[in-house]
Amino acid sequence: MAYNTENIFAKILRGEAPAFKVYEDDYSLAFMDVMPQVEGHTLVIPKDPTENLHDADPIILGHTIATVQRVSAAVKQAFDSPGIMIAQLNGAPAGQTVFHLHFHILPRADGLDIGMHARNMADFAVLETHAQRVREALA
Ligand code: AMP
Repeated sequence: MAYNTENIFAKILRGEAPAFKVYEDDYSLAFMDVMPQVEGHTLVIPKDPTENLHDADPIILGHTIATVQRVSAAVKQAFDSPGIMIAQLNGAPAGQTVFHLHFHILPRADGLDIGMHARNMADFAVLETHAQRVREALA
């Protein structure tokens, strides 16, 4: 399937849609998931127009994973999280709903269940405080 330039993450990258950004470099962008499955749920995307893992240029993928590693450490610190789950879905049958490659960073702890996927919109004021915690951990 051809990459659809009208997907929401492409719009965020073009500045046509808002995002609670926490990190950006030449190759990648990280921002809070607006329908978080758990407090601190953060997404990392390549700037390259890539639909999924299998379409990704390995060099771009390497840069993106390096950002996942960096932002994941910051999320872990910001939310004092003993565990971090990284999730990445490819294709609608796998649950992918936004067709621009992305990695989910999900804080996990014993007894802390994660919510439903892409279901409940967060309070944006709360989300901004969460984004700020991650930015401070990255600083
Ligand atoms: P996936 O189902 O793996 O494609 O994940 C897409 C994720 O993007 C879901 O967790 C959604 O909650 C999230 N999402 C959708 N729209 C936005 C948006 N405008 N800003 C941030 N996250 C979004």
